[in-house]
Amino acid sequence: MPTPASREIERLREELRRHEYLYYVMDEPEISDADYDGLMRRLQVLEAEHPDLITPDSPTQRVGGKPREGFQQVPHLSPMLSLDNALNDAELKDFDRRVREGLRGEHYCYTVELKMDGLSMSVRYENGAFAQAVTRGDGQVGEDVTENARTIRSLPLRVKDDAGLERFEVRGEVIMTHRAFERLNEERDGQGLPRYANPRNSAAGSLRLLEPWITASRKLDFFAYFLLVDGQPYFPSHAESLGKLKSMQFKVNPHWKVCGDIEEVLEFCRVWEAKRDELPYEIDGVVAKVDSIAQQKKLGRTAKAPRWAIAYKYAARQQTTIVENIEVQVGRTGTLTPVARLRPVNVGGVTVTRATLHNEDEIERLGVEIGDTVLVERSGDVIPKVVKVTEKSPNARRFRMPSHCPVCGGDIVRVQGEAASRCVNTNCPARLKESVLHFSARGVMDIDGMGDALVDQLVGRGMVSSVADLYDLTPEKLLELERMGQKSAQKVIENIHNSRQRPLPRVINGLGIPFVGERTAEILAETFGSLDHIARAGEEELQSAQEVGPKVAQSIRRFFGEPRNQELVERLRAAGLHFEHQRRRKTGGPLEGLTFVLTGTLPTLTREEAKAKIEEAGGKVTGSVSKRTNYVVAGEEAGSKLEKALTLGVKVLDESGLLRMIG
Ligand SMILES: [Zn+2]
Repeated sequence: MPTPASREIERLREELRRHEYLYYVMDEPEISDADYDGLMRRLQVLEAEHPDLITPDSPTQRVGGKPREGFQQVPHLSPMLSLDNALNDAELKDFDRRVREGLRGEHYCYTVELKMDGLSMSVRYENGAFAQAVTRGDGQVGEDVTENARTIRSLPLRVKDDAGLERFEVRGEVIMTHRAFERLNEERDGQGLPRYANPRNSAAGSLRLLEPWITASRKLDFFAYFLLVDGQPYFPSHAESLGKLKSMQFKVNPHWKVCGDIEEVLEFCRVWEAKRDELPYEIDGVVAKVDSIAQQKKLGRTAKAPRWAIAYKYAARQQTTIVENIEVQVGRTGTLTPVARLRPVNVGGVTVTRATLHNEDEIERLGVEIGDTVLVERSGDVIPKVVKVTEKSPNARRFRMPSHCPVCGGDIVRVQGEAASRCVNTNCPARLKESVLHFSARGVMDIDGMGDALVDQLVGRGMVSSVADLYDLTPEKLLELERMGQKSAQKVIENIHNSRQRPLPRVINGLGIPFVGERTAEILAETFGSLDHIARAGEEELQSAQEVGPKVAQSIRRFFGEPRNQELVERLRAAGLHFEHQRRRKTGGPLEGLTFVLTGTLPTLTREEAKAKIEEAGGKVTGSVSKRTNYVVAGEEAGSKLEKALTLGVKVLDESGLLRMIG
């Protein structure tokens, strides 16, 4: 029989699932991360009190598995076939001719989808709940990656609508977005670990980690495209399956359509080849499938691949060329990035003249030297990279990291355990320029119009020698610059002025402390509440914040220890930036996200003491009982509040119960 606790647990799960769906599948969150965490925390507390009510489909159970020793082999219910490729229009038309002949004059149409560059995975559901996930493997037998796949937030642990199917299987693609991939590699640079070569490799590597909690941190995504029962398509057409998967709240790539003939398929291929850089993930082509399942069956398959589907592959955006030189660029934290100057080469319609080599370790790994012939690759919007050396030059010259900064002549150091070398001169103009650009960037202080050309002039003319100088600029001063009109000068100053409203985490991020990005800035603000507190905290205290380790703490300490940065902070304070944080909650307390009402006289604690203890533990105390109240703490002579709690089914505690929860 459902109890108030089990009802509350189910209600919270429903709510959390809905928000997971809105956030991870629809990309349209309705509540803040903090509110989401609060709901999650409340569910965790309730489940901890009622461990018998924990089920594997609860949103709390995404990451729970123990480290694995290996992966079990699991046979697929029906083979996960690979597709034949069409490398050009003629091959695609050949495929269409074979389909037409195979169907002997029947009318047919195609469903076309983007071919995402990840790895295929099969996910089985039983009675609406996520049951097992298996990699493609060799197509017949894959590996059980259930615990790791559970951590993919766009993959529902319980489906809202199971279409009346007791068991079904969803097949789709596990991918990593460009953004998640870049972040992962930046993290690895910081830890002195080798970079992943591309998003597909890192998605594959992340899915096969033996520690599910590391997989969870990798931010994988899953896009569904097959809905099967007993290994066979369930709906009569592929388009119907896609529609059903979407309504079951799986993530389905929205860019698909039904095409009446092969010309329309070709048009779709061309459109997306031109637009592929706009997508947040990598695609390597288009998949065309005969839409009718009956016709698919009629066409059958060869030993290797179905006859009713084909992958139209885009030209690889790779090309070989010669490394003419290796130069270094200075970033905002002083990081020196080696960049290969290339003999200009056309890669998929774009002339490429340089490629990043990231750092000395990467140069070592590639074994690249000046004069070598290399394979370069372009993907997404990011700067092209060197994939490998294809031919050594007999006169190859080794790259050496300069001992002095190419821009300012300052000393270069490489801290042990880090991949990067840095210019130590905090006044380095190259660093300054990059730091102004970072400070002004979208998502940081959002100063629109503060682009490359403007910053170049401001730094070049000595009008800006620290980000604090931005707040002393006037429209009149800007008018002295080239290509600057009255109106745009006014606009830029207005944007600078508006940036004073950005909350503290943005300000912290804007300072450009090495290893402190968006997320760490957020955590620091939440934990310490003000910039002054962060600036005076010792390394040990800093490490009390979640995810802040010794290296980050040391970097923060070093930053605020420098007189130049202390002066910067004072000037930003004078400019009126936000130095205080509206703390959304106390992090990490056992009562986080829970609301309490106190009533009556408690045996040992005064009302004030009880309130302080609850707040200390992350909970909230309000004056009146409502449906949103989680607990009423009742002492002697508790009155109407206790009655109301009982009618609303709110849980009632005594003082010792409260103290047990606080622990
Ligand atoms: Zn320098």
